[in-house]
Amino acid sequence: MSIYELRCGHGHTFEVIHSFTAPLPSCPGGGTATVKVPSRFGIAGRAALPPPPEVMPQAWRGTYDGNREYITSLRPAP
Ligand SMILES: [Zn+2]
Repeated sequence: MSIYELRCGHGHTFEVIHSFTAPLPSCPGGGTATVKVPSRFGIAGRAALPPPPEVMPQAWRGTYDGNREYITSLRPAP
């Protein structure tokens, strides 16, 4: 079973968990035939990786590595 993104003739897109050998489901919005569209799964997987240190916001280095007390002290008093 894999996740596929499907698009119908109306332009609806939706994702299904689908067996490779089973027939594609019709659109739940209109019952029209659907086609597979290229999955974004791989792209999302790469984007989910934590960013390397060199692309972290530079301002973070001015907060003593995110020291909670220091950050709290930066907030305006209520
Ligand atoms: Zn549709």
